[in-house]
Amino acid sequence: MNKITIAIDGFSSTGKSTIAKQIAKALNYIYVDTGAMYRAVTHFALKNNLIGDGFFNSTELINKLNEIKISFKFNEELGFAEVYLNEVNIEDSIRTLEVSRFVSPVAAISEVRLKLVQQQQLMGKDKGIVMDGRDIGTVVFPEAELKIFMTASAETRAKRRYKELLERGHNLSYNDVLDNVTTRDHIDSTREDSPLVKAEDAIEIDNSDLTIEEQITTLLELAHKYI
Ligand code: C5P
Repeated sequence: MNKITIAIDGFSSTGKSTIAKQIAKALNYIYVDTGAMYRAVTHFALKNNLIGDGFFNSTELINKLNEIKISFKFNEELGFAEVYLNEVNIEDSIRTLEVSRFVSPVAAISEVRLKLVQQQQLMGKDKGIVMDGRDIGTVVFPEAELKIFMTASAETRAKRRYKELLERGHNLSYNDVLDNVTTRDHIDSTREDSPLVKAEDAIEIDNSDLTIEEQITTLLELAHKYI
């Protein structure tokens, strides 16, 4: 069977990764969460005191980029690959609101993007991959056979994210989450390097009123068409 590349882009908390994981599993493809990679760099910047409220030492972060090694290791029990920074599992530490607050400025730095995009292209060089992010269909794999652009209203997305964070035991308000979602979307869509835009040939899916099962069925049908 022909292997294809599936690029899933869209706004924050549109449920891209939930769907992408399931599609990859059904097709026996590799799944890569590129947001986790930008979050890993942000986690590094926070730990090294390079970013925080009111400051961002981007020059020092750029100088230290060669100290950052990001990898994914498949966790059989969870059924997906967890992200590692310099061989340390940081899957839980990168899902905090703190990392979410600082990730978009970090992701706007071209040197950061260059490093991560190169790694992403290498991971997908043999196809058979489902990758989600903001610039997969436009920059990482402009030749991807299937491109999806996910949207949903900001309130729907914030509600989903809020529920998810509460379930993980985080103590925060809905308004903080809504604010984070809209701020990130704004920074991601207006940055100079690789802004979040729908690729011309991407299929847009507004999933505000769709169940996860409905989205998976639609995407698998599309994938099989291209395969
Ligand atoms: O997908 P997730 O919400 O985890 O992504 C976190 C952040 O990483 C995004 O808000 C965006 O700033 C950045 N990102 C990016 N390009 C990607 C994936 C994520 O700029 N391909």
